Amino acid sequence: MRLHDQGDTVLKVVALAGGVGGAKLVDGLAAVVPAENLTVVVNTGDDFEHLGLSISPDLDTVMYTLAGVANPETGWGRADETWAFIETLETLGGPTWFRLGDRDLALHMERTRRLRQGETLSEVTADLCVALDIHVRLLPMSDDPIRTIVDTNEGKLAFQEYFVARACEPVVRSFEFHGAESAAPAPEVIEAMEEADLVIYCPSNPWVSLDPILAVPGMRKAVQARPTIGVSPIIGGKAIKGPAAKMYAELGVEPSALAVAQHYPELDAFVIDAADAVWMESIRALGLQPFVTNTVMDSDAARKRLAQEVLEFVGELELAL
Ligand code: GDP
Repeated sequence: MRLHDQGDTVLKVVALAGGVGGAKLVDGLAAVVPAENLTVVVNTGDDFEHLGLSISPDLDTVMYTLAGVANPETGWGRADETWAFIETLETLGGPTWFRLGDRDLALHMERTRRLRQGETLSEVTADLCVALDIHVRLLPMSDDPIRTIVDTNEGKLAFQEYFVARACEPVVRSFEFHGAESAAPAPEVIEAMEEADLVIYCPSNPWVSLDPILAVPGMRKAVQARPTIGVSPIIGGKAIKGPAAKMYAELGVEPSALAVAQHYPELDAFVIDAADAVWMESIRALGLQPFVTNTVMDSDAARKRLAQEVLEFVGELELAL
């Protein structure tokens, strides 16, 4: 049956997301799906400990975006930020390669304080969402530490060392998600997947944002049991931001929307940009239903429109429900 044959029933949606690209589509979804029907499972493979603080970059990007306080220029941190802390740290000879704004710092300190008291990342995240007036359910993929390691021509690098300290310069060979095999999905993640009418892969980096989520035990099975649609993070062979296209090229794969579709054979449908319409038949041949639209989310209206269209595309799918 078709999803829209369910009449006025509102779909229950689970979105899988990394940072910037993921956060933008999640923001659009939050504008068109009632908050109680939207769960976002966020990558924590980029998380790390720095200056004694527990930092969760993707959770923070999604939270700041949904709260309307994200810095649109950097893609990380908060708007209206001040830098007294990091500037003072510099005068003291401390490490400044990972920039932490004063307002941003407060969130890391509060998260760290509560984790040290024995609370879980899910519990802390849920309360931070309340404090930031976020109504959709935001779940870390796991409460257990999972750390993305990038194997490069210069050896194995912790993710932030590769991404920030080395500005993605080393040539990647492969990725490891340390701790994934023995990790458990965070509470409510699998239940949300089981209850979902639809799972959406946001346009996030396949290698280091969505693969870590899918590496959490039980996630692939849960995904395969549900109707799924993805949105390509590669447009016209390029990433809008970040190293996704560079990673494909270094791994010997021509970066394209087709390469991303090949990355996710479990998807039922895949949304590509109008610039990539040439790949439609190749994507269909992979067994994924292709949909074409403008996928650049360069305004709030564009985020909302793309989210709405993704839901409409799903309505056109013949899926066994
Ligand atoms: P990160 O963890 O901050 O790198 O964020 P993500 O993994 O969520 O996002 C990186 C990917 O998002 C890149 O491949 C970008 O091309 C993609 N992206 C960013 N903005 C957009 C957009 O407006 N539309 C689409 N389709 N992809 C986007």
